[in-house]
Amino acid sequence: MLATHAPALSFNDTAVAFASKSDAELRQMYALFAAMNNNTLVKAGGGMMKTALKWGLPVKFLIKKTIFEQFCGGENIQECLPVIEELGRYNIGTILDYSVEGEGSDKSFDHTRDEILATIDMAHRSTHIPFSVFKVTGLADSAILEKVQAKQTLNQAEQASYERSRARIDAICARAHQYGVRVFVDAEESWFQETIDMLAYEMMAKYNQESAIVWNTYQLYRHDRLEAIEQACETAKRDGYYLGGKLVRGAYMEKESRTAAQRGYQNPINPTKEATDQLYNESLRFCMAHVDRISICAGTHNEASSLLLTKLMQEHNLRPQDTRVWFAQLYGMSDNLSYNLANAGYNTAKYVPYGPVEAVMPYLLRRADENTAIAGQSSREFSLIQREIARRKSKK
Ligand SMILES: Cc1cc2nc3c(=O)[nH]c(=O)nc-3n(C[C@H](O)[C@H](O)[C@H](O)COP(=O)(O)OP(=O)(O)OC[C@H]3O[C@@H](n4cnc5c(N)ncnc54)[C@H](O)[C@@H]3O)c2cc1C
Repeated sequence: MLATHAPALSFNDTAVAFASKSDAELRQMYALFAAMNNNTLVKAGGGMMKTALKWGLPVKFLIKKTIFEQFCGGENIQECLPVIEELGRYNIGTILDYSVEGEGSDKSFDHTRDEILATIDMAHRSTHIPFSVFKVTGLADSAILEKVQAKQTLNQAEQASYERSRARIDAICARAHQYGVRVFVDAEESWFQETIDMLAYEMMAKYNQESAIVWNTYQLYRHDRLEAIEQACETAKRDGYYLGGKLVRGAYMEKESRTAAQRGYQNPINPTKEATDQLYNESLRFCMAHVDRISICAGTHNEASSLLLTKLMQEHNLRPQDTRVWFAQLYGMSDNLSYNLANAGYNTAKYVPYGPVEAVMPYLLRRADENTAIAGQSSREFSLIQREIARRKSKK
């Protein structure tokens, strides 16, 4: 008999997806996504916004009231509190994502460490924050990470810098362990990802003895990542700790392909989108078959993969609430997944980026880019908003 009693799940239920939005808020979203749907406008607008901010023109208020509010929680943790509460009312957790790219000095790395520690303290105090997250490049010099991966000898200053970075990561993971707050280590570019993996596994061996506190990230657009998960699972078993794995498709596809071509090595990216989808789903199957050792988070906006994971949970007799399995999306996107999953009892969370408006501009421009029309087809988000507005009109 199945131990699960999950209600039927439909990602098309826009009534659930937009339950938290008033008609006025929905109209505001419509206007924003309609603007982003326009390729020319996004290209011209993005450039203009960046220039205006650089010149000190008074556009910050406008940005903050539109695209910033759609995709970010606030400029600091305090400003994110209403968003945390609002998501929490619908059983959706918040993952506070400090999205500021520092200038690469020790001072900025220390500042980022302190900010991440503050998110862990906040998670400890709140019932609505199931994870914290950090990027290793927010705490370490990426050139040094790259040298470590390439097995080049570090000079004394570089070695000292690397040790300071490792200490920052250790301080974060130690605090997470102390408070029982899970922490994601985000995945980045392949030419230093091995160093990130190494640091993540070092922390797991130290802090994942009782449960998965430290979680590494696997980018399944890379053809070697299922093997990486399998190996990590073997090592975790051998060394007696729990593995936490966030599965994503990967965010740096063009950069990876370009760099491989420039440096003359084989492209680490799968040859097609279908190959990535297949590897992603195969990895979900592997993790679920080893759920006694691996805790898993599907960090995806892909409906088929999310649905597959709910089915795999049923096959493995896991209740939707089983704390070893999570679903996560970005704030302001794919509410049809987040709200419907949470409504059906699955552990669901949103990355909620925060930071000063100027500092999160690169993140906002990536979101705008992602939401433009592709081959004349409206973006997924825009279509969903249109459908919900039509549904509400038909009810009046
Ligand atoms: C909660 C969360 C956490 C995340 N954390 C990270 C992280 O730590 N590191 C990171 O890199 N990204 C991260 N991402 C971003 C993620 O990697 C994807 O870029 C994004 O979510 C889009 O993929 P998708 O699975 O949602 O869905 P889809 O829209 O189905 O897939 C799009 C993705 O498929 C892949 N793809 C597209 N075309 C091709 C092609 N021709 N060949 C091969 N592959 C292709 C690319 O990865 C592309 O981003 C995160 C996303 C979420 C939601």
